[in-house]
Amino acid sequence: MHLRQIFLQHVAQTSPAPIGIEIVKGEGCTLWDADGKEYIDLIGGISVCNIGHRHPEVVNAIKEQADKYLHLLVYGEIIQSPQVRYAKRIADLLPENLRSVYFTNSGAEAVEGAMKLAKRVTGRTQMISFKNSYHGSTQGALSIMGDEYWRNAFRPLLPGISRYRYNDFGMIEEINTDIACVIAETVQAEQGVNIPDKEWLQALRARCSETGALLIFDEIQAGFGRTGSLWAFEQFDVVPDILLLGKALGAGMPLGAFVSSFEKMQSLISNPVLGHITTFGGHPVSCAAGLAGLNVLVESDLISTVKAKAELFRKYLQHPSIVALRTAGLLMAAEFQKAKICQEVISECIRHGVLTDWFLFAPHCLRIAPPLTISSSEIENACQIIRTCCDKVQNELN
Ligand code: PLP
Repeated sequence: MHLRQIFLQHVAQTSPAPIGIEIVKGEGCTLWDADGKEYIDLIGGISVCNIGHRHPEVVNAIKEQADKYLHLLVYGEIIQSPQVRYAKRIADLLPENLRSVYFTNSGAEAVEGAMKLAKRVTGRTQMISFKNSYHGSTQGALSIMGDEYWRNAFRPLLPGISRYRYNDFGMIEEINTDIACVIAETVQAEQGVNIPDKEWLQALRARCSETGALLIFDEIQAGFGRTGSLWAFEQFDVVPDILLLGKALGAGMPLGAFVSSFEKMQSLISNPVLGHITTFGGHPVSCAAGLAGLNVLVESDLISTVKAKAELFRKYLQHPSIVALRTAGLLMAAEFQKAKICQEVISECIRHGVLTDWFLFAPHCLRIAPPLTISSSEIENACQIIRTCCDKVQNELN
């Protein structure tokens, strides 16, 4: 049987129309399929491959760690140097109140851990999240997800969750002493890139401090240089109580984390002991890869190139079909009038060797979130292909 048929039959499917190309190799910003066709990767595994596919330093770190040991024991019992060194490296790049890192396998698990931590630290159960926010697909993360369509089929979900409009000053007063935490993406991604006002995030911070609610920032998609600073919150002069990391954290390997203060994390130690358990979270190979990846990111000038690269996209992505281009560094959304146009453009782009995608809550927006290593010529080339595909779709639909 052809590999595609086996894929469709034996790999559980969640989409009626998966992209379904077989990739055999990735390097930098390029992917190759089984027929040798080349693709410029404009989505980088959905904000995972910030330093490109298979960075040599990351591949070396993986090999070196694989030669030493793989899984040893459940989380937190044995000293595993890749985990320890990575936690310290992350802590040294964060403010004083974010010094303790709990490693998970994925972003959603980091969200779950953070929700539990907020309950334990505050002794409260109610939570606030935001419309059009995505935090993962597990039941806790789904409970705080900001879109009814995606949640409804899986009820009952967690009680005590209120969802308000993102970037709305009117909701600030809703944060009171019953609230365990307010969880927000520092920049909303799946809404098609929604950048909040600095003053709004600052007002959230002030009200959380006033009421004792913990402020949680989800930077699973926006972190690791994607928006033009190592952490997106740096651009807003606001520091959360808990920071959520994932995606690029593992530099291509599965890894998530919730980060908070040493004192807050201590609450997971007792009553009950082992307040959060994971078998594989913080896997030594993932941590070795992530540490190598973070070192590449902060020791190179990559992050400082992000804004200029976004400007290049803006320069080259001019087309009558594109009604808006929103950019938070290299987290970008090109908006079309209708979802149908966007979907056709995506399919056409893939046929022409540019891999792009849409957004969960904005199917009329084209996702552009390439590895931060993308070169000027790759940007020019990719934009030219997108414009050609827009022409073709426009002509066909007229
Ligand atoms: N939070 C945000 C902002 C995300 O974009 C995602 C995944 O897309 C998650 C959480 C969940 O991460 P994961 O898919 O690793 O569970």
